[in-house]
Amino acid sequence: MARRVSEDLIRLLSRDKVIDDPDIVRLYAREPSGISSEALAVVFPENVRDVSKIASYAYKNNVPVYPQGSTTDLVGGAVPEPSGIIVSFERMNKIVNVNILDSTVDVEVGVRLGDLNVELAKHGYMFPIDPASVNIATVGGAINSGAGGLRGAKYGTMRDWVLRLTIVLPDETGTIMNVGCRTTKCRQGYDLVRLIVGSEGTLALVAEATLKIAPLPETMATALAFFPTLENLFEAYREIKSSGVQPLIMEFMDHETAKLAGEASKSPINVEGHMLLVSVDCNFEAVERIESWLRGVMEKNGAVKVYTSKTIEGAEPLFTIRRSLFPAQVAIASELYPGRKKIVFMDDIAVPPSKILEAVKVIKSVSEEKGLKVSIGGHIGDGNLHPSVAFPLDDDTIKKKVLEWEFEISKIAVELGGTVSAEHGIGLRKKEFLRMEMEKLGSVKALEIMKGVKKIFDPKGILNPGKVV
Ligand SMILES: Cc1cc2nc3c(=O)[nH]c(=O)nc-3n(C[C@H](O)[C@H](O)[C@H](O)COP(=O)(O)OP(=O)(O)OC[C@H]3O[C@@H](n4cnc5c(N)ncnc54)[C@H](O)[C@@H]3O)c2cc1C
Repeated sequence: MARRVSEDLIRLLSRDKVIDDPDIVRLYAREPSGISSEALAVVFPENVRDVSKIASYAYKNNVPVYPQGSTTDLVGGAVPEPSGIIVSFERMNKIVNVNILDSTVDVEVGVRLGDLNVELAKHGYMFPIDPASVNIATVGGAINSGAGGLRGAKYGTMRDWVLRLTIVLPDETGTIMNVGCRTTKCRQGYDLVRLIVGSEGTLALVAEATLKIAPLPETMATALAFFPTLENLFEAYREIKSSGVQPLIMEFMDHETAKLAGEASKSPINVEGHMLLVSVDCNFEAVERIESWLRGVMEKNGAVKVYTSKTIEGAEPLFTIRRSLFPAQVAIASELYPGRKKIVFMDDIAVPPSKILEAVKVIKSVSEEKGLKVSIGGHIGDGNLHPSVAFPLDDDTIKKKVLEWEFEISKIAVELGGTVSAEHGIGLRKKEFLRMEMEKLGSVKALEIMKGVKKIFDPKGILNPGKVV
């Protein structure tokens, strides 16, 4: 089967657009959390017509297709299960047009968010959605996973920043369609753009996008503070959130996670407690006042140590520890299960900001009850937490415990008025959780509607099958 499909694809596209060496294909069939699978071949479209040919071939031959950016979504969203064709967008990586007057950028979706920001910075602009994986994550992956990031406290998630899409449908002809407008105001009937954003590659292959962009801040006041107790930290959080100042970034890490992240990143900063990192974007005239206000709030609420900065460049070293959240979580797993293959489960829930302290405390106590070592960090400015635990692949008892833990954590999020997935998506891992959330909301019917929508876009169910619903 793999042989026939790859020969067909080579005839359809060209030899250099297809990889069928099983060892390389396997590298594309896995993601950083450890979830992996097998695929028939990887194809590399170079334009929307290539994408259309692949979609039409898959439809006519009933072969599953798996669109893929950099495979970092951590929920198995781009993992080919069951086997099929991986469509890697890595060669569709052009920044087509930056339009400052319109505040938009046209891109092919394989462009990495980090590279996009390097280009936009030349114009004094940025694309505000910045997952911690920004240097590797692609625009297409971010659109389809509905990504957020560190600046989510102020700028929200991808659904607030995508104006227009060129999509390809898995049908007889591989229909190419443009949805959305180049204008911010756009009433084009039902909002198909927002339906595609966060659809995790289950409705259409996204080939091109028009994104909104924002001016780079003039400068930024940043404070990195360490607190002896969670209560102290959340008092500072509450005071900042209630002050009328809109932070650009508000990040949290528990003491032990911050310590390991500090070690993993070789940061010279001494981690002395639970970590709160806050940045407020502002102009030069205001920065001194805001920096001293941030320091004051942190100290008044018991911070044992506060580091501050009045510039964007000066803040960079203060971000090092936060940027190492995932390596720290991997380090915890390696300490617990040395020399064993393991899966690191970085969860992704959101609760209303007013419930953050309660959520962190309950997550810690549930983890303790189950005898699991939890590490917690996240974008708390918008109530998004990433608690993480790990299990060794050779121990089914711990694996079972971890799966129960994850379900329980998700239930807690929903009970506190939140959701089972904030920014990583549902993927392979969270389908049951989504059902639980909709049941708790008395809205199981919504799942039927979602399945109906999927059928309209993808009548044969060949596009990223088994994900979301
Ligand atoms: C260390 C680390 C830190 C992270 N931090 C954050 C964070 O702060 N915020 C956050 O939101 N996420 C975060 N993530 C998750 C992830 O990196 C982001 O969601 C990212 O945007 C995914 O991009 P990607 O290119 O890797 O997408 P992939 O993982 O390749 O794909 C994601 C989903 O989109 C689909 N897809 C990809 N491209 C297309 C396309 N062209 N057409 C149709 N469907 C497509 C895939 O099938 C999959 O379902 C983090 C991950 C890691 C490993």
